[in-house]
Amino acid sequence: MRGLQCSKSLYLYKFFIQKRDAVSSEQQAIFNRGNNVGVLAQKLFPNGVDATPAKRSNNIEAVEKTRKLIESGVEVIYEAAFQFNQVLAILDILVKKDNEWYAYEVKSSTKISPTYILDASLQYWVITNSGIPLTDISLVIINNQYVRNGDVDLKGLFSIKSVLKEALSNQDLVQDNINRSMAVVNTPAEPDIKIGEQCFSPYNCDFMGNCWKGVPSNSVFEITGIKKTELFTLYNNGYKTIDQIPAVNELDKNVNIHIQAIKDKKALVDKVSISGFLQKLKYPLFFMDFETFMPAVPLFEKTKPYQHIPFQYSLHYKKDQHSKLEHFEFLADEHSDPRKAFLESLLKDTESEGTILVYDILMERNVLNGLKKDFPEFASEIDSRISRIVDLVQPFQERAYYHPDMKNSFSIKNVLPALVPELSYSNLKIGSGSVAMIAFENLKKESDMFRALETREQLLEYCKLDTFAMVKIFEVLEGVS
Ligand code: SF4
Repeated sequence: MRGLQCSKSLYLYKFFIQKRDAVSSEQQAIFNRGNNVGVLAQKLFPNGVDATPAKRSNNIEAVEKTRKLIESGVEVIYEAAFQFNQVLAILDILVKKDNEWYAYEVKSSTKISPTYILDASLQYWVITNSGIPLTDISLVIINNQYVRNGDVDLKGLFSIKSVLKEALSNQDLVQDNINRSMAVVNTPAEPDIKIGEQCFSPYNCDFMGNCWKGVPSNSVFEITGIKKTELFTLYNNGYKTIDQIPAVNELDKNVNIHIQAIKDKKALVDKVSISGFLQKLKYPLFFMDFETFMPAVPLFEKTKPYQHIPFQYSLHYKKDQHSKLEHFEFLADEHSDPRKAFLESLLKDTESEGTILVYDILMERNVLNGLKKDFPEFASEIDSRISRIVDLVQPFQERAYYHPDMKNSFSIKNVLPALVPELSYSNLKIGSGSVAMIAFENLKKESDMFRALETREQLLEYCKLDTFAMVKIFEVLEGVS
């Protein structure tokens, strides 16, 4: 599967694994989630035997263990391992029913992707060629329409979709790709492959630290909001850095604003638009930010898989232009459903009149609308808060204020260092929403009270910085209007 994305990646993986990028905590959390969902899905087929060897990387032992389990008449095998012609496949669940074999591969996703089908096709090829005739092969995915009602209903949570037809029609393709991959690992020279769109599709390659080290800073790849194809066309036509892009080009208008700002080395400021935006705001001002987590398996009543569950907010408050800044915050108890306590505290802290500023409205509005469905008794109060929200991203999205360091991105993580360079997330242990999400989820498993307290402090510090950053960004806008 790796070789399908890029044969150089396969070669490096086989012979120079030490060149691989370190796994980030975000990626590790995704892997862990996959493992947890996989273990839960095993309960769909109970009383199975796990073929995982004592030492996880000992694939030969795993294949041998699987063979012995099959021979001894075991009818449900988890992590069943097969090998044929040097190709290894480890299947999540193998089931024997009425003397016929069925294969199940579990994915923590809610959709079936072409990559999953190719993966299942390869498994079908290995398993059937190694002597187990499969009557069917299916993907087990998460059903995003499932709503928890009491204990988790596994049959409702998971959807099982047969991909036998696709796997059968892919068998020649699988054979061709195996031949190609074999040629790569049996050739001493590293494949001569340049960086390209394959580095990002279907996954971000984990050898980018190796292959991309020659890409200069301020390269065209730092431009966001533009298709990778266009970026590679520029790069391959010799425009390595943004300032080398010619003034006359066919790129998007906003990308050209970015290019011009880089060339001029200064911010573009439209004072009239900024004043217009500021006039819409009414004191007292609230600067609000939420943190959420998204459990694959719903933890609470009436929630769906991957639903955003709010667990934390930060709120900076400015009564009038000259008053002192105040701060309010909420961080839920990690052991119970945080939604109602979150909502009640938020409604109380935002009770008075005034504009509620958020940065990128989508998350906050969606969370509030979700809470409205979950707690209809608070609907009118929630609606009144939603009606007071104004998005602070607007002047940046509309290019009323544009700084070259924003790199065509309006994420607060790009806007803040451009406008307020002295304020940074880099010294924080928790420095992004996704890390905050993982940290909160992990709190449930933390048995060391001091470590738990430390994590809670870090979460509070992070969320507080998010809204303080909004205050500072707002002050910059006020200063130029
Ligand atoms: S970074 Fe790109 S070129 Fe390098 S191995 Fe990965 S996919 Fe291939």
